[in-house]
Amino acid sequence: MKLTTFSYRGRTRIGTIEGDSIRTVAWQDSMRQLIRRGIRPSPTYERAIPLADAQLHAPLIPGKIIAIGRNYAEHAAETGSPLPDKPIIFAKFPSSVIGPGDAITWRESITTEVDWEVELAVIIGQRAREVSEEDAMNYVYGYCVANDVTARDLQQKIDAQWTRGKSLDTFCPLGPYIVTRDEIADPQNLAVKTTVNDEVMQDSNTKHMIFSVKHLISYSSQMFTLEPGDMILTGTPDGVGMGRKPPVFLKDGDTVTVSVEGIGEVSNPCKVIAE
Ligand code: MG
Repeated sequence: MKLTTFSYRGRTRIGTIEGDSIRTVAWQDSMRQLIRRGIRPSPTYERAIPLADAQLHAPLIPGKIIAIGRNYAEHAAETGSPLPDKPIIFAKFPSSVIGPGDAITWRESITTEVDWEVELAVIIGQRAREVSEEDAMNYVYGYCVANDVTARDLQQKIDAQWTRGKSLDTFCPLGPYIVTRDEIADPQNLAVKTTVNDEVMQDSNTKHMIFSVKHLISYSSQMFTLEPGDMILTGTPDGVGMGRKPPVFLKDGDTVTVSVEGIGEVSNPCKVIAE
């Protein structure tokens, strides 16, 4: 099932995507509440809405976002960092989440080094605490595509940790909808890609992750209770802007598109806020 949060004729609703149409779900609250309460998304008898006439939003605003650093060997290498022997965990504020088509914005007095990171996003479906790797996938609700947009100057030169550079408003494009777990046979074999203005920047596969999705869920759950509607960002492959020679960063007017095979793509324009 593909679950969307969408607007149509001024109303924001939850729906399921069926081909070129959206069927509205009989649920008036948010996607996060739908997941938390274990509601089965059943369609209403309302007429199907053409997908092309609806605006898709971020499918959910997660409760917390647990993000993983350097989870692909070639990305660790391009940043000049050693391979981690355990997952590197950092936080990204949920207030950074935007949807497909929304602008990624920043002020140049805050950052001039805005970078892209395509990632497979894992949405948690059930409370998970100290779960084993063998059981971990039972706690997955579904998957999205995320762009872990990063202000490299804040991350690397100004702060000694990553929270601010990862959490600016608009720095977590998410979508295009949630694909439920049953539709993804193997999350460790999905092509992941980023383009900036149609130029391919990242082109890899989730099979190159150092720590698998099930390992990340089990490992995180030893320390934090994972709640339904929380999200794990599983790390990005090589090809980020700071790893290029010379480095390349996003500019006003750019369009950045991230995609994960079997899930979809999320495209966002970039806009520098005038000061
Ligand atoms: Mg990342």
